[in-house]
Amino acid sequence: MAEQPIVAYITHQRSFTVVCPHCAQPQVFKLDDIPQNSRNPFKYECPCGVCTNVLLNARRNYRKRVNLGGVFTVAFESKKIERLCTVLDISATGMRIATDSCRTIHQGQLLHAKVVLDNSLRSRLTLRGVVRGIIPDNARLLLTLEFENLNPQEEEILRVYLMP
Ligand SMILES: [Zn+2]
Repeated sequence: MAEQPIVAYITHQRSFTVVCPHCAQPQVFKLDDIPQNSRNPFKYECPCGVCTNVLLNARRNYRKRVNLGGVFTVAFESKKIERLCTVLDISATGMRIATDSCRTIHQGQLLHAKVVLDNSLRSRLTLRGVVRGIIPDNARLLLTLEFENLNPQEEEILRVYLMP
């Protein structure tokens, strides 16, 4: 029987709570008490004797501040112009990028952004994101993108990347 792990979310205080699915007893852990490179999901044995698989995760809305270079194109533009951008923060559901001011970017447009993460694998991702916010910032635009149709591999790369 493949047991579905329960998910524990990491808080900003670098701790997380596991609630035993059997007796509902909560147990708080500090992230710093967990050995580096320990397995995820890991086995947790409750004092009541029940063993559970726990998957440690960053919160869906956790935004990692980054400074990554990238390029993007507007998906349905007939002329695919690659524009430079800087990724300012990234989460499991979207990211904020800065780019040079440009009149042809509108709310609701789909962008394809090629980004190289600063992880050990230097993962190259082409992330599809819909423009949800545009803020002019001097000669730049700050764009809020909401990811669309991430595949399981991209989701997994981001999940690991977003671990604090
Ligand atoms: Zn228990």
